[in-house]
Amino acid sequence: LKQQVVSAQNLVDDALRYVKNHCSVGDRLDPELLDQHQLISYQLAICSAEISAADAMLNFAAEMSGDELIQQVVTAFCIETLFAIANRLQTHAVEMGLDRDTIGALYPSHGINVLAELGETVLTKDVTQLGTLLSEENQLVRATFARFADQVVKPVAEEIHRQNLDIPDHILKSAAELGCFGTSIPERFGGLQADDQADSLGMIVVTEELSRGSLGAAGSLITRPEIAARALLAGGTELQQQRWLPALASGASLCAIAITEPDYGSDVASIVLKATPTDSGWLLNGNKTWSTFAGKSDVLVVLARSNPDQSLGYKGLSLFIVEKPQFPGHEFQHRQQSGGKLTGKAIATIGYRGMHSFDLFFEDYFVPDENLIGQEPGQGFYHTMAGFAGGRIQTAARATGVMQAAYEAALAYARQRVVFGKAIGDYQLTQVKLARMLITITAARQFSYAVAKLLDQGGGQMQASQVKLFSCRAAEWVTREAMQIHGGMGYAEESSVSRYFVDARVLSIFEGAEETLALKVIARDLIKNA
Ligand SMILES: Cc1cc2nc3c(=O)[nH]c(=O)nc-3n(C[C@H](O)[C@H](O)[C@H](O)COP(=O)(O)OP(=O)(O)OC[C@H]3O[C@@H](n4cnc5c(N)ncnc54)[C@H](O)[C@@H]3O)c2cc1C
Repeated sequence: LKQQVVSAQNLVDDALRYVKNHCSVGDRLDPELLDQHQLISYQLAICSAEISAADAMLNFAAEMSGDELIQQVVTAFCIETLFAIANRLQTHAVEMGLDRDTIGALYPSHGINVLAELGETVLTKDVTQLGTLLSEENQLVRATFARFADQVVKPVAEEIHRQNLDIPDHILKSAAELGCFGTSIPERFGGLQADDQADSLGMIVVTEELSRGSLGAAGSLITRPEIAARALLAGGTELQQQRWLPALASGASLCAIAITEPDYGSDVASIVLKATPTDSGWLLNGNKTWSTFAGKSDVLVVLARSNPDQSLGYKGLSLFIVEKPQFPGHEFQHRQQSGGKLTGKAIATIGYRGMHSFDLFFEDYFVPDENLIGQEPGQGFYHTMAGFAGGRIQTAARATGVMQAAYEAALAYARQRVVFGKAIGDYQLTQVKLARMLITITAARQFSYAVAKLLDQGGGQMQASQVKLFSCRAAEWVTREAMQIHGGMGYAEESSVSRYFVDARVLSIFEGAEETLALKVIARDLIKNA
């Protein structure tokens, strides 16, 4: 199978070179020509993410060679993935310049029995977790946050969702005490990370467990300090790091990210919210939208256009730390003594409830000079991007956590629900579904662990987008299957799987919409380097 995965990679590389040849003018890629090849670029981005997931799984199997179940899981995943890649390449062979017979050799000789056998084992042995390569320390962290998710978050998650409540203070307080806001902040600033070594893996482990408890009421609490901390660590002055990072790490300050605007979401470089220089700072004027947790936060990380020349694009942007009081609920208004005003109104959503995502209106809102991250205007886009890589891998981990919760619920239900005289888990189709869920979750997890290592070594920006793409798409399918296994009960508001389903839907939209990541980050990078 390893050899077939390499063959799949070779074919994808051939296709990427083919696209490059058709989209280049001289030695540069032409954006308009690239746009004319969106469909195959998108498919190739997905293939590349699947191949990276398969690689991560094969490495996992090699390191856990004594574990029979893991070998079964990895084999089943690689077979499924090779079928999926071969199908995708076959469909687009002509447009990708590939030979159909060569693609045909990718199809594995194995049949569906691999999945059916795995499913039977999963049901019989009630497999919720596989063996792990995590260090003892990370396993301890996982156990701590798993307890927190089960005992503190899960009991209130459903009510928060159904009543669209604020995350209760006891969750925020306990999460802060456990250090969850400081997972990407070095110890010298009060965070959980060693000073001399980044530890994205620790952050992933914590995120997964919290998201298993609830995406909206726990797992996503980490995203904002994660993005803010990475931006501050990448671009902030020493003074700014000392001022903000300890407050973020301890949870004394809660933060929100305000990048998206009503007219500009995926196209971040074109945002228009104005930052106008004054004697001692800046005045913000304009709108932001979808700023999650902006009500409860006292720190907003705001991307603004500090140079009015729109033709400068991303070079005219600066990133600001904007202070405001914390407000509970769905609406707020704050007036500064200087006359500035900030108004926020939560957008009603189908899921992802608890933090609330706000429309924000800034009117002459004053921000002092010292709150310009990096103290140099025009650098905001780079600082934002530094934060985004962290946000993307963290979102992949959020997806894994939601999938794990959905899988556990489906497995338990399949074992006890009797239809036509037998537990539905005794039927082959249910067994195959559960096996597919398990292999997908394992792949998402192992893939995110692999990318965490890359990020910690200073690389992995494109791979963070790949794992986000892979895991978030997978979460939609896994939560759908969990709901399906529950039959009518799955559609009831009172069952947790209906919440997992609506929550999972947002994962492919935020932190880089699926298409934007596939086309503008992954495919572009792969085509450029083909
Ligand atoms: C619940 C929720 C919470 C959020 N939280 C935050 C937050 O805290 N802070 C924040 O700043 N933002 C936040 N967002 C905003 C989120 O990041 C944006 O919604 C996302 O970036 C997409 O932008 P958009 O909604 O403007 O979609 P658009 O940019 O309008 O895109 C619409 C669709 O077109 C596709 N598309 C875009 N460009 C292309 C192209 N060139 N070719 C083909 N297809 C394309 C997109 O992929 C998408 O499917 C949140 C969003 C949601 C739903």
